[in-house]
Amino acid sequence: MKGDVSMREQIDLLFKEFEKLTAGKYQIYPESVHHFEGSNLFMCKDKDKKLLVIIGKKGICEKFTASKIGEIENLDVVLCQLSHENCEVIKELLGLRPSRCTKKTSFGFGDRLGIATPAHASASKDHDIFPIFAQQSVRELSRTQRTFRDVLDSAVWGVFESGYRENFGADADHVKHTEDLLIAAHEGYTMYTLDPSDYVKDVSKMNQKEITEFYQSHPERRELEARYLGKTFSLSKEKLVMSEEDFVKIFVTYIDVLEHVVKCYDALRGVRRDFDLEVSIDETSTPTTPLAHIFIVQELRRRGVDFQTLAPRFVGQWQKGIDYIGDLSILEKEISIHSEIAKILSGYKLSLHSGSDKFSVYPIFARYTEGNLHVKTAGTSYLQAMRAIAVTDASLYRQIHKYALTRFEADKASYHVTTDLSKVPDVDKISDTDLSKLFQMPDARQLIHITYGSVLTAKESGHYLFRDRIFKVLFENERLHYEFVKDHMEKHLDLLKI
Ligand code: ZN
Repeated sequence: MKGDVSMREQIDLLFKEFEKLTAGKYQIYPESVHHFEGSNLFMCKDKDKKLLVIIGKKGICEKFTASKIGEIENLDVVLCQLSHENCEVIKELLGLRPSRCTKKTSFGFGDRLGIATPAHASASKDHDIFPIFAQQSVRELSRTQRTFRDVLDSAVWGVFESGYRENFGADADHVKHTEDLLIAAHEGYTMYTLDPSDYVKDVSKMNQKEITEFYQSHPERRELEARYLGKTFSLSKEKLVMSEEDFVKIFVTYIDVLEHVVKCYDALRGVRRDFDLEVSIDETSTPTTPLAHIFIVQELRRRGVDFQTLAPRFVGQWQKGIDYIGDLSILEKEISIHSEIAKILSGYKLSLHSGSDKFSVYPIFARYTEGNLHVKTAGTSYLQAMRAIAVTDASLYRQIHKYALTRFEADKASYHVTTDLSKVPDVDKISDTDLSKLFQMPDARQLIHITYGSVLTAKESGHYLFRDRIFKVLFENERLHYEFVKDHMEKHLDLLKI
């Protein structure tokens, strides 16, 4: 204890010296202080950006791209931009790089703006979860004009700022093409979520002749028939029997998926030995049946694919940024069966996508999987950021909101939502103080959630309409922004406790 106190006193003294040297120009993040071989590294901010400060030995400071601003007790004081090069050094020196999942329960915090990790990290601190702080799908990258590199760098700087000391992961989410997998692999991602949805055949849109023709002429048909047709899979409360009708449907729907997953897996194995793999079949029009679940797991294994998580498509509506829509008792039954299958086949866990704000589902999911689960969220943190803007800059919020209304029809095309814009009140008729109440309304939430890409990239005569102002307002009201995100994510994590 005494050691702790004197350490803290030393750090406080160092901070005071730094403030004296820089005439109070910078605000320090006290939690961010890291010690490395007699050097101290921490983060600070001035009125418009964050910087890394090192008060340390020449040998350490020289590793960074930095500018020296003075000396404190024979140590150099240098300021460094939060660049990719400097991030690489931080990862190397302090070991702040993502790792594979080390816990039963894992949770993905998508951070579309790239500034929420410190809040995600403080939400994670008191929960027994493995956090994935860098998690972005290829679609999100293109909508926000970001890169896998930038997403990971932002997460690492966020971890540094928050002083989070546990392991965390980096998920290249919903990747459809091997080229994107290789880019993410090059950046050091530790989890890869394969999205083979382009290879899922929608049998509901094929006529019987097409289905039969495809099935009958497939070279693998006979071998797989011998493996599955008429076979029984026993669960505690029921027996699942693979009828011919079931089998034909499953075969036609998923056979090309298997081949694509194998291709992606081989591409990854060519460049990385150690990673977590998720196979996501959640973007299909119909729920994944228990028999399809079994077929996919067994066939992937037979083809040598080592995967850690599987994201089935569950029954009901999983709309963005709002709670589950559907009959919870039907979902519960389905989750119980999928969980039991995962338990019997073992070696992987179930993953829940579109997990933002699915508060009614979390306790059920946690209970049946016994906490052996993964959840992904993303948009809900963005909504908290927008809520922080509504609270601190009503005028900017109104402009964003009105712009979002003009974009909604086009942007909703890639989502399954039932948003009714007539239920979203006129922002000009809401007082400044009531603006944030919009975030309690499902339709208004979805309006803002779905248009994020348009809002963040909107330009007028070469300048961003909102992007820079959004970042400025959140930077100036950082504490409130972090608090909103942290509280909301804790609400998610609390419901996953078993
Ligand atoms: Zn998904």
